Amino acid sequence: MVIRRELGANGRLLYNILIDASDSTCMQAPSHNRKAIQNPAILIPTSENQKIDPWVCAGIPKKIKINSNLNHHYTFDNFIEGECNRLARSAGYAIADNPGGNAFNPMFVYSATGLGKTHLLHSIGIKIKENFPDKTVLYVSSEDFLRQFIASVKNQTVNDFNYFYQSIDVLLMDDIHNFAGKAATQEQLFHLFNYLHQNNKQIVLTSDKSPLEMEDIEPRLLSRFKWGLSAQLTPPDAETRVQIIKSKIMDDGGIVIPDDVVEYIAYRISNNVREIEGVLKTILAESILSKRTITLDLVRGIIDQIATNTNKEVSIDYIKSVVCDHFNISVNDINSNTRKREIVQARQLVMYFSKEYTQSSLAKIGKLCGNKDHATVLHAHRTVKNQCDTNKKYKLQVQDLEKKLKC
Ligand code: ADP
Ligand code: MG
Repeated sequence: MVIRRELGANGRLLYNILIDASDSTCMQAPSHNRKAIQNPAILIPTSENQKIDPWVCAGIPKKIKINSNLNHHYTFDNFIEGECNRLARSAGYAIADNPGGNAFNPMFVYSATGLGKTHLLHSIGIKIKENFPDKTVLYVSSEDFLRQFIASVKNQTVNDFNYFYQSIDVLLMDDIHNFAGKAATQEQLFHLFNYLHQNNKQIVLTSDKSPLEMEDIEPRLLSRFKWGLSAQLTPPDAETRVQIIKSKIMDDGGIVIPDDVVEYIAYRISNNVREIEGVLKTILAESILSKRTITLDLVRGIIDQIATNTNKEVSIDYIKSVVCDHFNISVNDINSNTRKREIVQARQLVMYFSKEYTQSSLAKIGKLCGNKDHATVLHAHRTVKNQCDTNKKYKLQVQDLEKKLKC
């Protein structure tokens, strides 16, 4: 009215809206933009392989189809199941069946390094894309999220950052422990979390600690992490490790590694699957490039050289060699049926240590110690224990052998 009165019927008020992009707490995308982002039908497909850095695509209102950043080598099919990951793996499957509409939102996966968190995250994303090709899935490492956020603050494009992340149906965020002490990023994640959760979008997070043990993370964020399911990945047991090794060997082209060598690797490295993979890659290189035969000795050398956190205990073969050295007898004597007293005593010790320090079954131990049955192994184990309890000199000898086995 005032304009018409002052300028006449053709008077127009022109104005620009300036958004203060430094306000990192502002999460609401303008409604017209939000509508555009949330309608996947208007996204223009780009080449599937073209890697789009979410941050470079500033201005989500531009029509884009995001690259999910998924690693297609990490699938459920090659994520070997064991007691160590059963809960997380089946919850991952349930999520892939109904992302956002299940009881596991968020799903919080935690473990020490090298136990499959990243692998599981990609498996979930790949399965969701298989089941729901139109869903916008994004795998993002905490480092990338952090880098993108800092850049957005610097370039005053925080709103674009928010639009981008608000457009996602399934957010797979890796290693969020890296946000410890990063208050502004945590604040951003807090708002994003709320937005996605309220809109029934799926969130899966990984961390090296459980929400209870995480430090320097805001309590309100931690409490949200606990809303859904927290699932721990633990080190795989010996049987699962053997299966993982066999599956990795197949993936690497199926070089032939004798079973006792596979079991030896599984025994020596029990806490980190990534280390097992490192050893397998070196074995592969030795066998293909240096044309070396894969023997227990070669693998022992490789493990000692490149693996950390290994178990000192080794194979039944190694136990045999230490015990035989001690008694100055030959390994063939242990493998034979001879009933000579000193051989029987050494064989019993081999059985005892094999049961104590390897993951092998009683049947297997018996088979490798002169084709005996599992009852004989149990009897040998009991005999050695009883003698240790009653005979001090014998006990010292057993302790001496133990030291040799462990060094
Ligand atoms: P994290 O993220 O927990 O540090 P990763 O997911 O990177 O661990 O796993 C390390 C390596 O171990 C990967 O190459 C992964 O494929 C492998 N791995 C871990 N657990 C399994 C499993 N259960 N089955 C097959 N491979 C596994
Ligand atoms: Mg990881």
